[in-house]
Amino acid sequence: MSDERFGRLTDAPVTLLLAGVRVIDPNDGSDSIRDLAVLDGFLADPAALPPGAQRLDGTGLVAAPGFCDLHTHLREPGADGAETIASGARAAARGGFTTVCAMPNTDPPLDTPARLAWVLERGRQAACRVRVIGAVTTGRQGKTLADLVEMADAGAVGFSDDGAAVPSHDLARAAFSCLTGLDRPLIEHAEDALLATASVMRAGPTATRLGLTGWVPDAELSVVERDIALAVETGARLHLTHLSTAAGLEAVRRARARGLPVTCDVTPHHMALTDEWVAGSRQFAWEASGDDAQDVARAFDGSCRVNPPLPSREDALALLAGLADGTVDAIATDHAPHPPERKLVPFEEAAPGMIGLETALSTGLAAVEAERLDLATLIGALSIRPAEIIGESRSLAPGQLADLVVFDPLARRRVEAAVLASASANTPLLGVELPGVVRLTVAEGRVTYRS
Ligand SMILES: [Zn+2]
Repeated sequence: MSDERFGRLTDAPVTLLLAGVRVIDPNDGSDSIRDLAVLDGFLADPAALPPGAQRLDGTGLVAAPGFCDLHTHLREPGADGAETIASGARAAARGGFTTVCAMPNTDPPLDTPARLAWVLERGRQAACRVRVIGAVTTGRQGKTLADLVEMADAGAVGFSDDGAAVPSHDLARAAFSCLTGLDRPLIEHAEDALLATASVMRAGPTATRLGLTGWVPDAELSVVERDIALAVETGARLHLTHLSTAAGLEAVRRARARGLPVTCDVTPHHMALTDEWVAGSRQFAWEASGDDAQDVARAFDGSCRVNPPLPSREDALALLAGLADGTVDAIATDHAPHPPERKLVPFEEAAPGMIGLETALSTGLAAVEAERLDLATLIGALSIRPAEIIGESRSLAPGQLADLVVFDPLARRRVEAAVLASASANTPLLGVELPGVVRLTVAEGRVTYRS
């Protein structure tokens, strides 16, 4: 694929007019069709643009604040070739994201200020802002606390041992205590390793039918409840990432009703896909299940192996309802690229994870089309709400540095490996037709993607 569609944060600032575009700004709930002008990278009064400024027809398009992904695996440092900071950032730009938060489970892990600085330095040339999340424990080994204060000073926007939960109660308490007053969340992958041992998909009738070891929802709930109690005890911020169970979500709902500093995200795949995809289904959670839903030839597809595993239909719909009612703050992709040799293996041996930066918006739009979500809520969960969690803001008001996405919500496209900007193609959405095509992404006043 030509790189001409992609720009970088180091490019010259853009001047352009988007004429007659539908502007949706979740900051103030506004939704109106108007002209949107960018002058030297800043949002401006359309009348201020010089004559002859580049003009794009915005008819039928939606402009929204740039998306922020709280959970991205960029695989650098690391040597498996599944992704680089540059390719992951291009995938982000193509998906409408202007910020990604790089998870620390790299090789070596991001557990020191110097390693965070290395990623941040490479990110400066990328097609989106790259933020970093520091490891909670040294080497992500779950034994000793890493230096969270130094990493916060070096730019860490949060801390996580993602791939696993902080294993012990004592260590989790030490981490939360250290974060009290730092205003950085502990971003927890809530999964009790003992309860989840050897499981490869969600426990339930489908796992039983396929003969695969099932993951029980209690594996998530026990860590969610432990961490909420520790957040109460220490006053530190907790962010639960990729919630996948109705029970875990319900615990968050109760905590928030008590005014606790607990936020959470769900992935597009946990709110739209179900455990039946492991059996070959390609129907979304909100679509009626039918006998024709499952294609035996697609069963045991390693691209459906993800951790936490794809949920039951009931849980997927509960997560979607949580997003619609505001209990779920954000959609985070958990973009997890893997090379084919780690996926084209027996299901139980496949590496967990799927890519998601280039399909997140479209998956959300499919839920909007199904009337499970409204468009403004979807946009808020992709943009300003995750941005707030890491201390970024987004605004479409004149005078602000332009940071936005423009997409066609009705255009449809089939997900194809050949056109993905990611260096990997491990997604079960390949071949699936989805609504929504990003036309333009502008980050920090620079065009980072245009189609
Ligand atoms: Zn995780």
